Amino acid sequence: MLLPPACAGCGRYGRLFCEDCQRSLQSLSRGPNHFSAPDAGTVVGDALLLAHTAFAHAGPMRRALQRLKYGGAARLASPLARAAAPALLALAAVTGPATLVPVPVHPARLRQRGYNQAALLAKALATEANLPVADLLVRRRATTRQHGLSRAARLHNLRGAFAIGGGRLVPASVIVVDDILTTSATLEACAVVLRAAGVASVFGFAIAREV
Ligand SMILES: [Zn+2]
Repeated sequence: MLLPPACAGCGRYGRLFCEDCQRSLQSLSRGPNHFSAPDAGTVVGDALLLAHTAFAHAGPMRRALQRLKYGGAARLASPLARAAAPALLALAAVTGPATLVPVPVHPARLRQRGYNQAALLAKALATEANLPVADLLVRRRATTRQHGLSRAARLHNLRGAFAIGGGRLVPASVIVVDDILTTSATLEACAVVLRAAGVASVFGFAIAREV
């Protein structure tokens, strides 16, 4: 069966993620001073120096990320990464050369889902932004659902969840990549592990942020 793809944002046939949906996305990465002023797309943590997001997690973007994560639509990683690439390049202009590192999923979830959506996005973003990408992190245990928890509760929930995969070279600067940023607890937990392994600067990037 060779049907044309239905848009993940609006359901119309033709494109995986159509032009109309892309134009309607709420950007969190506009304006020349968006890193120096308090900004809906930017957060900081203790180990995490800075995290930046491209879009609000709403409307067509919410539906597209849902399809990517739970609907088996691995092909969506490429158009989503293309749409988000300008925001990543804006972050990379601040961070300097950095390696993209996806937030890992637990092996059990990887078997169930068939892929790690954050890894697909990181690879596609690496291509778009011409940055290196490395699977440096592993997930040691599955975590209970984070949804509805406070940031402190999420950080507690994530303690010990991540580790460095064996015998890897550690880059000086890393941008941890995830699909959705809610409280930045996941990025912070990854940053703690990367900093302990010797990474000097850890930044974060997500396609969309809960607003
Ligand atoms: Zn659409």
